[in-house]
Amino acid sequence: MTHKEAGYRKKFLHNLGERIYGEKKGVEWIRATFLGAAREVGRSAILIQTPNSRVLLDCGIAPGSSKSFPYLEVPEFNIQTLDAVIISHAHMDHIGLVPLLFEYGYRGPIYMTRPTRDTGVLLQMDYIGICQREGKPVPYSSKGIEEMLKHCIVLEYDEVTDITPDVRITLSNAGHVLGSSTVHLHIGDGLYNILYTGDIKYENTKLFEKASTDFTRVEGLIIESTYGMRDLPPHGVGVAKVVEKIKEVIARGGKIIVPAFATGRAQEIIAILAESDIQAPIYLDGMIWDSTAIHTAYPEFFSRLMQNKILYKDKDPFQDPRLKAVGSGKERQKVFESDEPCVVLATAGMLIGGPAIEYLRNFANDEKNLLLFVSYQAEGTLGSKIQKGWKYVPTATDERGIELKLEIDTVEGLGGHCDREQLYAFISSLKTRPKKIIVNHGESMTCSALARALHKDFRIETNCPRALETIRFA
Ligand SMILES: [Zn+2]
Ligand SMILES: [Zn+2]
Repeated sequence: MTHKEAGYRKKFLHNLGERIYGEKKGVEWIRATFLGAAREVGRSAILIQTPNSRVLLDCGIAPGSSKSFPYLEVPEFNIQTLDAVIISHAHMDHIGLVPLLFEYGYRGPIYMTRPTRDTGVLLQMDYIGICQREGKPVPYSSKGIEEMLKHCIVLEYDEVTDITPDVRITLSNAGHVLGSSTVHLHIGDGLYNILYTGDIKYENTKLFEKASTDFTRVEGLIIESTYGMRDLPPHGVGVAKVVEKIKEVIARGGKIIVPAFATGRAQEIIAILAESDIQAPIYLDGMIWDSTAIHTAYPEFFSRLMQNKILYKDKDPFQDPRLKAVGSGKERQKVFESDEPCVVLATAGMLIGGPAIEYLRNFANDEKNLLLFVSYQAEGTLGSKIQKGWKYVPTATDERGIELKLEIDTVEGLGGHCDREQLYAFISSLKTRPKKIIVNHGESMTCSALARALHKDFRIETNCPRALETIRFA
């Protein structure tokens, strides 16, 4: 924690005064209102209320959707009375709209891990630039981001922190992306504890250990369900397939475009390729290079195995000589013009814009090339449409655009989310069986099917709220 952060935190705790350390009482009621990510993936925002506290969990945007913001302008959500904001991780569907809270006048604390803060700022700044370039309305300015930074209190994994008179939080490893956290809320005298998973992976990956389940008590569980009704191959199978596929395309002289979020799958693929004997340059475009640099600044957030690799320059995947940054249109043009096979990792991960689209347009006409999906493609995005058989990529002047003649494939098992089996294993590994499970962050059918399945298999009360629905925990 920097001196400034410590100072801010001290001031904040002082303002809470005796209330924090006073006698904690049993809580009369606890409610969760779902302002987004209810029966959808995107715009995560959950308002948790007790008689003494109003806490917002995440505040994201929905990429590729016309309904892109959470419901912040409803009477249920009063920014003047909001006590704290907690961010699970630096994906735009969780952190993307936080600066708007500060532009609306919020001046309270916002809790997250250090990598979430740094990556989040990078992506928010990039988002402003993308909106401007694409002529879309920009929801906030860099002022909002600055305010967010000023009010940010960074927490270590498993550090217990009082945030309001009756809520105490702990962020723990979620295994999803760098610095990603589950949020444990210990409420009142601790008789009721809520665990919000954010996005979780309950399987070891190249970069991270699986999500922590080391909580003394969990009565209410809010769980993500991105792949909640899917059975995916194990991570090792995905790793083998991605290397095999890329080698095959390079051998036939093709180029590969892998759309990836700036943080997450991009670094996982880098780590996988660094271990392989693939003889081709690996270009990183969009925010991926900068986000990878943030990864190297926080080795302590990786798995033990990866920490040991990062210690040695010749084993550190992020210093692999095959990695090349593409920082300008001119450099991109060189990749287009080169006859050499290559791998390109570029944003946006769901092909909703960014340089990935430009590569796709350029690679589209050659059957030797490959468009390779390695991560979740949300409903309504171009990535999802192409996966379902759409064969065109739009251009600035043509909605239908260029025909995709290149090969299109998806490698499963590399995603940063749990499949059904891993979600079940995560719940089973909790020390106490939750009394209530709320399923969110999944497509509508998935949320309801998983809620039904969990109810049947665990004999627990489950729910899959719609947007703006309020669920009572206690
Ligand atoms: Zn995520
Ligand atoms: Zn998410």
